[in-house]
Amino acid sequence: MSKFWSPLAASLVPYVPGEQPKDKQYIKLNTNENPYPPSPKVIEAIQAAANEDLRLYPDPTSGALVQSLASYFKVSPSQVFVGNGSDEVLAFAFAAFFDPAKPVLFADITYSFYKVYAEFYGLQADLIPLDEQFRMPLEQFNTRENGGIVIPNPNAPTAMLVPVDEFRSILEHNRDQVVIIDEAYIDFGGESAVKLVADYPNVLVIQTLSKSRSLAGLRVGWAIGSEELIDGLNRVKNSFNSYTLDRLALAGAVAAIEDEDYFQEITVKVNQTRDQTAVRLRELGFVVTDSTANFLFISHPDQAAEHIFQKLREQGVLVRYFKQPRIEHYLRVSIGTDEEMDVFLNVIADIVKP
Ligand code: PMP
Repeated sequence: MSKFWSPLAASLVPYVPGEQPKDKQYIKLNTNENPYPPSPKVIEAIQAAANEDLRLYPDPTSGALVQSLASYFKVSPSQVFVGNGSDEVLAFAFAAFFDPAKPVLFADITYSFYKVYAEFYGLQADLIPLDEQFRMPLEQFNTRENGGIVIPNPNAPTAMLVPVDEFRSILEHNRDQVVIIDEAYIDFGGESAVKLVADYPNVLVIQTLSKSRSLAGLRVGWAIGSEELIDGLNRVKNSFNSYTLDRLALAGAVAAIEDEDYFQEITVKVNQTRDQTAVRLRELGFVVTDSTANFLFISHPDQAAEHIFQKLREQGVLVRYFKQPRIEHYLRVSIGTDEEMDVFLNVIADIVKP
């Protein structure tokens, strides 16, 4: 606490990101980054943009990227909004659409940034418990009074997917509220809710370059929705920082969206490694949720998750442990290369051996 902090700053409970330690070379399976480098075309495009005119402001509409996303998703450019990572797009969406007079609804085990944003904007939150198998109890979102809804699909950190058509009922029961579907991990085997945008003006689908396109370091995310929703996001953005994406990010992002072959190749690879890792973990006695993401959510019946986490860390493998009720027996393990997962599996097999 400092006397210099505003009442707002003093009241905040900030998000705690996964650790990025520098003390030694870890096998980093703790922040859901992609183990493969971005497309070489992205690097070329960023280099070319750096040789152009960084003296000048970037295009405040991020027009080139909006165009390429609109073609990619077969929507109009007026249905696309881009921002500095999907975290920023989410922050703008909370500000633009959620009614402070009513609670925002999200699951009790979900991406922890939602709670942070709700607090930041002075919104009440009504948390909906996942069922015992960590499934999203969708029908509960249909009946509770709310000022907006946010659901990640697949959910994090459980990795579990809701089939996209099951969102129709929520969208129909909440026609006066905005329903955000956060698809940070959708490319690892899920079907996107972008197809629902044509039918429902109240759905906002948010995606990112951070995971499936290996560009967490570039900070680019976007939202697809009705023109009405995109206008709302632009109102918030242009009242805050009209130049969200810089020239390098813009150039790199366009190249990433255009290199579909590379994207498909690394996504298939990550999914194969994930499925093989899940099989081997189950052989070691782990409970592993069905993952449609680039991470696994695992628990061992005989060994405390915190103990496994510490032992892995001592041996140079970082995973994510959440000291949080209901999931304190679980670890979240991002998918690395095959070589990294072999090391991880050898180390963890040793830790849990009877
Ligand atoms: N949504 C979910 C569910 C996430 O796990 C993350 C990554 N931590 C994000 C959004 C934000 O990703 P980014 O800001 O890198 O696009």
